[in-house]
Amino acid sequence: MSDQQTNRTDGESRQLDAVVIGAGFAGLCALYKLREDMGMKVRVYETGDGVGGTWYWNRYPGARCDSESFYYCFSFSDELAQEWEWSGKYPEQPEIERYLNHVADRFDLRRDIQLSTSVTRAEFDDAANLWDVYTEVGERVRARFLVTAVGCLSAANLPDIPGRDSFAGELFHTARWPREGVDFKGKRVGLIGTGSTGIQATPEIAAEADRLTVFQRTPNFTVPARHAPFKPEDQARIKQNYAAIFDRTRKSPAGFPYFPIDRKTMDVSDEERMEILDGLWQEGGFKFLWGGFNDLPTDLQAIEIVSEYIRDRIREIVKDPETAELLCPNDHPYGSKRPPIDTDYYVTFNRDNVSLVDIKKSPIQEITPTGLRTADAEHEFDLLVFATGFDAMTGSLLRIDIRGSEGVRLSDAWAEGPRTLLGLQVAGFPNMFTITGPGSPSVLVNMPVAIEHHVEWIVDCIQHMQDNGKTRIEASEAAQDSWVEHVAEVSQYSLMGKSNSWYVGANIPGKPRVVMPYTGGQPMYRERCQAVVDAGYEGFEFGA
Ligand code: NAP
Repeated sequence: MSDQQTNRTDGESRQLDAVVIGAGFAGLCALYKLREDMGMKVRVYETGDGVGGTWYWNRYPGARCDSESFYYCFSFSDELAQEWEWSGKYPEQPEIERYLNHVADRFDLRRDIQLSTSVTRAEFDDAANLWDVYTEVGERVRARFLVTAVGCLSAANLPDIPGRDSFAGELFHTARWPREGVDFKGKRVGLIGTGSTGIQATPEIAAEADRLTVFQRTPNFTVPARHAPFKPEDQARIKQNYAAIFDRTRKSPAGFPYFPIDRKTMDVSDEERMEILDGLWQEGGFKFLWGGFNDLPTDLQAIEIVSEYIRDRIREIVKDPETAELLCPNDHPYGSKRPPIDTDYYVTFNRDNVSLVDIKKSPIQEITPTGLRTADAEHEFDLLVFATGFDAMTGSLLRIDIRGSEGVRLSDAWAEGPRTLLGLQVAGFPNMFTITGPGSPSVLVNMPVAIEHHVEWIVDCIQHMQDNGKTRIEASEAAQDSWVEHVAEVSQYSLMGKSNSWYVGANIPGKPRVVMPYTGGQPMYRERCQAVVDAGYEGFEFGA
């Protein structure tokens, strides 16, 4: 790639108003707003050789958005919303990548984006109130603000299984999928992981490969997506209503343009409940979780009823009773982990070329040159797919050597788990803003909505600093302590803390167990953020 393509200017250090790390939804939005609203000199660094972030990296077969296209997008430009045509309900990865490229072109963002460049280190200079940012190519830039837009699910987790590097066939992680694709034809494929990613990839790989073996440690509840292309009248209706749709996404608990129905699971008769669940199953998507009853996130009895409903569907769909039982989750209630949605996942296990291996009962012991060995069998493969997820929410920040005031390392500050004020700033790290950082609702909210809210808050905050002649902002330790305590307290009312998921870091050996996202819901979170502003940025300390 030429320097022209990457926008790279090696050598001399340059001073900018802001450095943004990452060119996904968050980085593009931050660049647009900081430049257009504030007239700031901004540089975005992006590891990939294209924009898109999550939607650049996760190009595995079956990668598709679980939120509906018409609200999984930016709301900051009505022209953009009116001109872009989503092809259907749940867009596939290439379509979202195309959308983000369109955004980059339409708003002339590329001239401030340096692709193929990882930020490796960032150090705060207390004397100057500036960040020094270093890239892997030996470049250094100075900037007043450091804005991390690194994504909550972008640090791929490739488990260190003994012998992993000895495998003689092809080995891929779903979040680092080759741009040219992977040819499964005639191949024996092993797939490890049955989270949202594994569940999306399984039917697609099964349809192409000679044989697919899925290694499942923990079964997951998934409901059908029921994807459908849009008709012209769908497009027209959406476009006419965009203002109201975006307004609802900002006010609803999870950033969708829908509000939970005011009905508890036990308010209705058994027959009526069954009818409601059947209807939701037919309709598909996340609505299954919140569209029927409002007590699912908290009421264990209600959740067990709905969990059993899904188990019954699995038993109905999957012909082999042993496989069906193996696919039925029993160790966590529905909704306590991020619920996947799927296209033909369970029915794929009726195919002759697909088998399921229980690696909870018989763990993987080692990867060999020809495949892998579990406690009770040897499996041979041409190709291994790791759908093993991410070091979520903190991994992508901690993989950068970030040093704040007086050289304090972020990895030390977060040794016992992430600590932030509102998920937007970290005490000891002045002038650094973390878009959708831990301690904010982030992954529990439709991401573009969460991102736009954070970017707007950051832009307003910087404007406030400019208006008041300040060059330094930092979360106070006391305010951060109290926010961390609040996040932990609110999480007691959610079942999230009780399941072993990436929400709590349980998927990464040695990672401190903390409920990382704010579980109080978007409306309460936005109120808190606004209250802080109204009280003159209470909890933040400013310096000239
Ligand atoms: P994940 O939910 O963390 O699932 C990883 C899977 O790999 C789990 O089944 C896990 O088993 C297994 N695993 C991890 N380490 C393992 C090891 N050492 N040995 C054996 N198995 C291992 O990751 P993901 O499926 O990539 O999804 C992560 C998140 O990304 C989702 O929850 C969702 O928020 C997002 N996502 C979104 C979409 C979408 O919107 N379309 C699509 C994909 C992903 P255990 O459960 O036993 O740990």
